[in-house]
Amino acid sequence: MTRQRVDLFVIGAGSGGVRAARIAANHGARVMVAEEFRYGGTCVIRGCVPKKLLVLASRFADEFELAGSFGWTVGATRFDWPTLVAAKNREIGRLEGIYRRNLESAGVIAVDSRAVLEDAHTVQLLAGGDRVHAEKILIATGGRPRRPDFAGADLAITSNEVFDLPALPESIMIEGGGFIAVEFGCLLARLGVKVTIVYRGEQILRGFDDDLRNHVADAMRAAGIEILTRIEIRGIERASVRDDAANPDGYRVTLSNGETRDTGLVMLATGRLPNVEGLGLERAGVETDEKGAIRVGLDSRTTASNIWAVGDVTNRLALTPVAIREGHAFADTVFGKRPWFCDHTNVPEAVFGTPEIGTVGLTEAQARERHSRVDIYRATFRPMASVLSDSTEKMLMKLVVDAGTDRVLGVHVCGPDAAEMIQMAAIAVKMGATKRQFDETVALHPTAAEELVTMRTPVG
Ligand code: NDP
Repeated sequence: MTRQRVDLFVIGAGSGGVRAARIAANHGARVMVAEEFRYGGTCVIRGCVPKKLLVLASRFADEFELAGSFGWTVGATRFDWPTLVAAKNREIGRLEGIYRRNLESAGVIAVDSRAVLEDAHTVQLLAGGDRVHAEKILIATGGRPRRPDFAGADLAITSNEVFDLPALPESIMIEGGGFIAVEFGCLLARLGVKVTIVYRGEQILRGFDDDLRNHVADAMRAAGIEILTRIEIRGIERASVRDDAANPDGYRVTLSNGETRDTGLVMLATGRLPNVEGLGLERAGVETDEKGAIRVGLDSRTTASNIWAVGDVTNRLALTPVAIREGHAFADTVFGKRPWFCDHTNVPEAVFGTPEIGTVGLTEAQARERHSRVDIYRATFRPMASVLSDSTEKMLMKLVVDAGTDRVLGVHVCGPDAAEMIQMAAIAVKMGATKRQFDETVALHPTAAEELVTMRTPVG
């Protein structure tokens, strides 16, 4: 069999791999990409995109509530999970098709197979067994959910399974206090599921600004979500949540405080691990760090000189747009004679809980560690959509400013459309805007975002 030869072999057709493959092909390289699951990767298939659709679906619950305060009479509402799952699947099928077509129209050879490294230049396609000689290789295999090690952990679902549950449970216990636990806790609660979050630390969303963390936790509790802190799951066994021991329809969970709880479903949202198992990295001289992530330099080059890695498998900043930029920078640098790096500073982030978080730059605690004088500006107020109702919902906005240089170091927003606002505020922060320049920007009235340019007096 003639061995195919390519300039670039990309393992993994997620956000980073697809961008790199297309750009390298546009620069004239002969490129092959292999994907073992579905084109589009975690973001499109079982991450950001379907998650946001579920979040949007869940928020109708609040809209129906608020509509009455504006004079509407909303008739009986009923939510049908299978209808939402089917609609979501149509959309991700459409997006997957676009990913494939974009690769093909760029001239990339797309192969449906798991690919493993035999050495630094040889890739084996497990579906069919073909071997491909590659001048250069890009590993963009992403990550997968981490399962803590306790008895019965395999009885729990993860974010891989939650999108396609045949039916919603009456209740769910979610372990973890990060992005996924908060997002799914909030959305499932609004879809009618009784949610309990079990978190090992003192306050959820470690790493975010403390004011935001407290604000979100309070709002989640006000929405009926139970948050247990300083507790971990120790074991899960099948049980019945409907007092019918002969027909187990749920799970009994043993917690680290000795308590047991019955619940319809358990979900683990305890972080993600880089997808490196069985890839043959050692045969190719590609080293990993103590967390199993592929070690790379600023230019995404691994310890093997002709192999690069981008995205979640490198565990730098596990966000889709970051993987895309890393992939693009790699392709321009290596195949387009246009060297540049993905800058990992001041990357805006959102947690699509309800309330939503949008954040960019330093938290107050980080700023106080790094700068001698820090000014804090903070506003809390009722969003306009809830002023006619008896909703107690509050919006939070916070600016973290270096008092020495007047530079805005961080912007933190919690409430409706927080992510949309932060995308724009991130431009100013990235440009090094000062608080004075925020003040000089005329407010756009009446919006929530205008608070970002009208906070005059530091509160700390
Ligand atoms: P996160 O890292 O956000 O959170 C993991 C949570 O699990 C933390 O609260 C952590 O606690 C806890 N945890 C970790 N290990 C254990 C353990 N052994 N036992 C009990 N608890 C544990 O991960 P997620 O799984 O929520 O999400 C994975 C990644 O995907 C995110 O980090 C993010 O990069 C990305 N993502 C981004 C989204 C977005 O941009 N909106 C949405 C969803 C995911 P502790 O705080 O103590 O470490």
